[in-house]
Amino acid sequence: MGYFTPTMYKKNVREIPYHILKKMGIKCLIFDLDNTLATIDEECSDELVTWIHQLKKDFLVLIITNNTKKRVASYKKKLNVPIYSFALKPSIKTVSKISKEYSLKKDELCIIGDQLMTDIFLGKRFSIMTILVDPIAKKDLKITSFNRFVERIILKRYKRLQYLERGKYYE
Ligand SMILES: [Mg+2]
Repeated sequence: MGYFTPTMYKKNVREIPYHILKKMGIKCLIFDLDNTLATIDEECSDELVTWIHQLKKDFLVLIITNNTKKRVASYKKKLNVPIYSFALKPSIKTVSKISKEYSLKKDELCIIGDQLMTDIFLGKRFSIMTILVDPIAKKDLKITSFNRFVERIILKRYKRLQYLERGKYYE
């Protein structure tokens, strides 16, 4: 079904049925940061801290981002989860490292993000579960604009093929 089709597609991270993921045997959630957990210029909110804290009861929670160390500073300080910056997604290097470091099998890992070209492509390349969410805001990092351009082309094609359509969330 194409290199960029996610396993699941939801409006945002709050809509993901985590209890189902748990039943499926998922042990580790790997979140993207920008436009998945927060907007690109938002510092770590208390609300996010509470929410992640809840998730940590059932899953190992990690964040991987292509953004800088400086960007993740407030998240590192407040969230108390491993955060990998400058991950060069869709390179599988970081996720491969995580899987070894925590002795996790591929079917125990799930990557969640807002970009087909980085988050979903990475997950597909590494053969793990992928969940696409809509970007929280329209505003992206400059380096993302090319990816969004390609993403629009893919989405056009996927809509025609009935693989994936923006706003038509998977059940
Ligand atoms: Mg993102």
